[in-house]
Amino acid sequence: MSYKYFVFFLAIQIKNFLRILRISGGTAFPGLIVEKFYPKVLDELAINFSKKIIVISGTNGKTSTTNILKNIISNNDIDVISNDSGSNLKRGIISSYLDSLNTFGKFVKNNSLMILEIDEAILPEISEKICPSTILLLNLFRDQLDRYGEIDKIREKWLLTFSNSIFKHSQLHINADDYLLSNVAQNFTGSVYYYGVDDPLLEDKSSDPTIESNYCYCGKKISHSVRYYAHIGKWQCDDCENQRIIPTTVATNIKQDLNSVTFNLNSENESHHFTLSSIGLFSVYNAVAAFSIVLNLGMKIEHIVKGFSSENNVFGRQEAFVIEQKRVKLFLVKNPAGLNQVIYALTQKNYYKDTLEHKLKKINILFALNNRTEDGKDVSWIYDADIERLSEHTNALVISGMRAEDLALRFIMTNRENLIIEKNLKKSVELILSESPPDSDIYLLLTYSAMMKYRKYFAKISGSKPFWVNSI
Ligand SMILES: [Zn+2]
Repeated sequence: MSYKYFVFFLAIQIKNFLRILRISGGTAFPGLIVEKFYPKVLDELAINFSKKIIVISGTNGKTSTTNILKNIISNNDIDVISNDSGSNLKRGIISSYLDSLNTFGKFVKNNSLMILEIDEAILPEISEKICPSTILLLNLFRDQLDRYGEIDKIREKWLLTFSNSIFKHSQLHINADDYLLSNVAQNFTGSVYYYGVDDPLLEDKSSDPTIESNYCYCGKKISHSVRYYAHIGKWQCDDCENQRIIPTTVATNIKQDLNSVTFNLNSENESHHFTLSSIGLFSVYNAVAAFSIVLNLGMKIEHIVKGFSSENNVFGRQEAFVIEQKRVKLFLVKNPAGLNQVIYALTQKNYYKDTLEHKLKKINILFALNNRTEDGKDVSWIYDADIERLSEHTNALVISGMRAEDLALRFIMTNRENLIIEKNLKKSVELILSESPPDSDIYLLLTYSAMMKYRKYFAKISGSKPFWVNSI
């Protein structure tokens, strides 16, 4: 056995071992070993998956979009290799490549498609290395400033990388409604496909505090004729010719309630009505982004319908458990734009005007704020989120996590009086269950590392299996 195959063999054994032990899902560590002892692995990946790699990046929605896309494609009888549990750094990508090898490290998945979600900051480096056939850029929001600096830096890196002629045979799928991506699309050397939302009734007239600096790359102001949320909407530059391109894959007629969202998908001459079992406009964007890729792979809407019927909630993003006859739903929150979308979805006006009973029904929240490296060290982003609105609509409120005091202070600033601070995970769950009325809904808002812990705990007490068990 050569050195390379020995490294692969070892890493595959460790990956299987970790999965059996259910320690970490075996998602990243085996990749780290290969990265260290066989750094050429990405060159090999690029050769073996030539013209069959889809990469997905952007601040919010990577994991959900990857899973939607993977479900649709694999339900149409195409084998998919993916890092779909959200391990989106180099080691996670390498670890997913191990799934395309046999036990002895030999590449055996000649007919498979690779779908990778990739962290925004390392997307340029990885893309140059593996030259994906399809690149999907979802959005850019302020996120974890302490790790990477301003989003402008990421945008500049993307612009520089994707204007390279090595991508002239690649497809770029891009959110037409995010003006921060427009420059990357205009300078892309391959084919560009736009997707987006067209529904003027969704206009958000509230003063969403997470609007990024609304400036075009020419230096002049960007104006919105319709703004859906944050800086996402129908936009144009006040001065130069930069404006939203009319998307070819578009969601219209969007209707939301507390458990689902429905919309029409329009593409060329086709149209179909879809229901998502997740909430919020961001879920629609994720779905339409995935649809844009599927349709440009040569599939039809009927293929999406076939693949979509088996769509499951994605790990950690919108999972639900039933405990003591109370419905518990988990949401990953990591930046103001994402948190606001969850807040607006949970407190939307349409829901409250339905009936008097609904109007009186407030939500119950357990919010755990951590600041480990993977959460982002800086927790000041909670001041840019609409905690005022959340507080106003919340009945029972339990605050937890390493930075519970910071979060409690943020709620107290909204003049909230009744809140419980409990840093112990088990006790925090007991408290939110006991404080919430019978037959009610409980929503957990969790930063990444908190999500990992609470997910595991709920899986244990509800009897559900951890998410990675499915992939054995
Ligand atoms: Zn301009």
